[in-house]
Amino acid sequence: MIHAPLLSISELIKRKTKILIVTHIHPDADAIGSSSALWLAIKQLGKEALFYLPGEIPYKMEELSRDISICYDVPCDRFDLVIFVDCANVTRIGPNGNEIAKMGDKVICLDHHISHETFADLSYIEPEAPASAVIMLDLLESMTVKITSLMAELLYAGLCDDTGCFRWSSNNANTFRNAAKLVEYGARPDYVAQQLYFTVPERVFKLRGLVLERMQTHLNGKIALVSIDKAMLEYVQADDGDTDGLIDELKMLASAVVAVMIRETDRGWKFSLRSKNSTLDVNLVAANYGGGGHKMAAGYTVKGDINELISNLVADLKTCIIALEL
Ligand code: 5GP
Ligand code: MN
Repeated sequence: MIHAPLLSISELIKRKTKILIVTHIHPDADAIGSSSALWLAIKQLGKEALFYLPGEIPYKMEELSRDISICYDVPCDRFDLVIFVDCANVTRIGPNGNEIAKMGDKVICLDHHISHETFADLSYIEPEAPASAVIMLDLLESMTVKITSLMAELLYAGLCDDTGCFRWSSNNANTFRNAAKLVEYGARPDYVAQQLYFTVPERVFKLRGLVLERMQTHLNGKIALVSIDKAMLEYVQADDGDTDGLIDELKMLASAVVAVMIRETDRGWKFSLRSKNSTLDVNLVAANYGGGGHKMAAGYTVKGDINELISNLVADLKTCIIALEL
């Protein structure tokens, strides 16, 4: 889509000394893995690098990111360069996105969202890439840094998770070539799978139980939907990051063509949408509410009465599903 050659991005990084790396709110394995690998690469080049994360590390990435120094407070400094990772727009890092972008003499963005809205001085956007981790792998190779086994494992985690463990339609032969490359660089697929999918805290089991119990369906089961409010999270002592991946449980419903998971956050109601049919583009649905993402996975955050918000979305989805004869 928008291609500043990766080489010009790596040249720019090499010329700069004080660099800020940022990624999106509600960070997932791809956001954290890609940003952390870049942070390690920039440190390896002997530069000053700060990784600002506007959210918490989900449990699945805790161990993989334990050696990464992460700043959780909004930086208040000047940088030669600010690099946005996996961000479809400047406010994906939060309401102060523009302010943070202005902290840099130059701004770079590396992203793979089809809904990307250009905001950086230099952007490398590849919507065909199944994860930002793949773009990052290409960038690190073009920077001629040594890709360590930790970097490879962080990128492998991003690639694995954004492809639903190599299950989604974004997955293709190239995904496996990149995965193989990362394994050659030292990533252990079994270890990463263990971290991402088999290190689930007990509270998440309880939350998963509630999610399945409270799932509602609409349009003869074609829409599977669940709403998680703060009281529900408190009840099982879970936090927002614990909801990561739970939407896939709803996708399993045989009759569903779309899954919706809603969470109550401090910023409003966060909607996650997943399509099970390539003709149903949830990115377009999310765009109606100011969000975006990919064709098969998208999201948005809005404020308002939850029942009204749900009925608006369900009406939209019904219209799409009926029009597409799904
Ligand atoms: P999730 O539902 O897992 O939060 O996000 C699914 C996809 O939609 C991800 O690629 C994510 O980056 C994107 N997405 C989620 N929420 C938003 C949003 O508010 N705005 C935009 N532009 N993309 C979003
Ligand atoms: Mn991603």
